[in-house]
Amino acid sequence: MSAAGALRYRCPGCGYLYRPALGAPREGFPAGTPWSAIPEDWACPDCVVREKPDFVEEPDAQGPDAP
Ligand SMILES: [Zn+2]
Repeated sequence: MSAAGALRYRCPGCGYLYRPALGAPREGFPAGTPWSAIPEDWACPDCVVREKPDFVEEPDAQGPDAP
């Protein structure tokens, strides 16, 4: 049950984080949806300015339960 190697994706505009383990249910992506399954033209749900290619991949050291 280790989160080692997990990645998250951060909006460079507002700091919104997409965690695959949590998905984005309000966006229609259930928990467990991999980043690769997100459409390229998906825009950040918080700022609606940045799109998927703008997001920054980073290690999710805190795990999916972190705030
Ligand atoms: Zn954003």
